[in-house]
Amino acid sequence: AATRNASRRVVRCAARGNQTRARNELSMRKPEYFRSGLGAPVLALTAVGGLYYLYKRGQEKRSRVFIEPEDRKKVVILGSGWAAVNLLSNINTDAYEVTMVSPNNYFLFTPLLPSAVVGTLQPSSIIQPARRFYKDVRESRVKFFEAACTSIDPEAKVVQCKDDSPIVGEKSTFELDYDYLVVAVGSTPNTFNTKGVYENAYFVKTIEDARRLRNHILDCIETANLPCTSEAERKRLLHFVIVGGGPTGVETAAEINDFMEEDISRYYPALKDDIKVSLIQSGDHLLNTYSEAISIKTKDAFERQNINVIFNSRVVSVDEKEITVMDKQTKENYPLPYGTCVWSTGVSLNPLAKELIASLPEQNNRRAITTDKYMRTKGAPEIFAIGDCGTIEQEKMLAKVTDLFVEADTDKDGSLSLTEVKEFSQRIADVYPQMRIHAKNIPTLFAKHDTNSDEVLSLDEFKELLKEIDQGLTTLPATAQVATQQGKYLATVFNKHLHTTNDLSSAEAFQYNHMGSFAYIGKNDAVMDLKQGAFSGFVTWFMWRSAYITKQYSLSNMASMAFDWTKVLIFGRDISRQ
Ligand SMILES: Cc1cc2nc3c(=O)[nH]c(=O)nc-3n(C[C@H](O)[C@H](O)[C@H](O)COP(=O)(O)OP(=O)(O)OC[C@H]3O[C@@H](n4cnc5c(N)ncnc54)[C@H](O)[C@@H]3O)c2cc1C
Repeated sequence: AATRNASRRVVRCAARGNQTRARNELSMRKPEYFRSGLGAPVLALTAVGGLYYLYKRGQEKRSRVFIEPEDRKKVVILGSGWAAVNLLSNINTDAYEVTMVSPNNYFLFTPLLPSAVVGTLQPSSIIQPARRFYKDVRESRVKFFEAACTSIDPEAKVVQCKDDSPIVGEKSTFELDYDYLVVAVGSTPNTFNTKGVYENAYFVKTIEDARRLRNHILDCIETANLPCTSEAERKRLLHFVIVGGGPTGVETAAEINDFMEEDISRYYPALKDDIKVSLIQSGDHLLNTYSEAISIKTKDAFERQNINVIFNSRVVSVDEKEITVMDKQTKENYPLPYGTCVWSTGVSLNPLAKELIASLPEQNNRRAITTDKYMRTKGAPEIFAIGDCGTIEQEKMLAKVTDLFVEADTDKDGSLSLTEVKEFSQRIADVYPQMRIHAKNIPTLFAKHDTNSDEVLSLDEFKELLKEIDQGLTTLPATAQVATQQGKYLATVFNKHLHTTNDLSSAEAFQYNHMGSFAYIGKNDAVMDLKQGAFSGFVTWFMWRSAYITKQYSLSNMASMAFDWTKVLIFGRDISRQ
């Protein structure tokens, strides 16, 4: 019995020992802050944070103005792009009757469109139904019509719309009246009237463009692979030419080159040596709206990747199989055989915006609808223009050149050094935003207008410099960043002011806050242009991807993107032509 008792004690001790070990193992698996006793405070903080968030949301909802449905002003939003959806998701639908009209019933995350061209991402991963942007989606307080606005009558406050989709009912047109109209119809590609572009080149502007371009690229490859294709024809078909060295052109060239090197070369080894990617740029820098350091990094990266960059050249025409290029230095034209031509040389006016400008005598800018600082259209204050299609009228600096010269001349020697001009440009950027856009080019502009090369600017030389800056056709760049901020800003204007009054004198003017720019430059490398400096490399590429995944407006898009990237990493891109 004594032995039995002793052995039971041993078993109990062993069991207790096991429990203690298990507890220890469990605590080993717990995160460091739990072991260090920080677990409870962290949980408490998270709970407090969550409650505070819910309280703020509730408070925001309670403080929202409520207007009886029959008294609500009608707001019609044209478009479902960056500017429009940011307005839609922030406007108070308890105070306005909101209707959105767009030929696309989705929002497109344009910065990742070049990735969709080659299948790094699926097109469906970068679009989101416009209807998802209504905060109170189940209550259907917002109406959405999939149609294009065909004309605006500012006098009658009516818009004409047309169903442009393949399936139309007995009647395809309808009209909507409004109290306020928001024009957020974006822009169209700028071809500079170059012959043959619409007929023979591809754009990267819409999701349909990405699908068409992808199929064309794969068709070129399959045709080049046929036994009946001659060598010269094969080389032509495998020449991918991108026209335009801005962010879209650079990213498209980088994505196509990745696709060729990582996927096409693997499946078509016989074609590998004939594949060529070229980029034609009219100036002598790539990404010339970014800092010079970024332009140099991008040029070096493209050199390493064997992307053939043709600088200082202008495309004269795009024929079915040949691009005619003019060398700007020699002024000579030469033919460039190609299989795929992608056109990305900036943007121009959307036809609807063009028509609106033509109908208003107060409008005199050919590039965008001119608005005041609250985004109200000049000549039609009930119409707001935001995003790519609008531009805020800026006070011209030239009108005050003498005063500005005195202000810039800090050492009072009657002339301006480069340092004085640089410092001055930073000081006045809030009042004259056109100066902010040119801030990086000040040394170049200074050298250009220092006509007698004495390294200072006289009043006359300074006048010419300001004239050039004032002439900037639009004051803010056509970017998603600007469109997003304008959409959110306009929602604030609606929520705070317009439900009761048309007077915006107490409203704050729109202020653009530039957060920096990214661009993908191929082979898991990206560049980032921030106020703090220029960055590139693998970490920047990782940040680029992280930034864009967190900027998605839905969890489902985030999940799809993460899935697509992982799939491509493991299995490569899909090469089937659909
Ligand atoms: C490939 C690519 C990459 C880009 N990368 C970046 C980037 O990295 N960072 C950045 O900041 N910007 C980037 N941009 C620029 C950015 O996409 C645009 O500046 C932005 O889309 C402008 O927003 P928006 O709302 O004015 O117009 P859009 O987003 O173009 O939306 C316009 C909307 O209007 C609709 N519409 C058109 N005509 C009508 C009509 N007649 N009636 C009703 N609706 C109409 C369209 O269907 C669309 O929904 C990129 C653009 C492209 C094409």
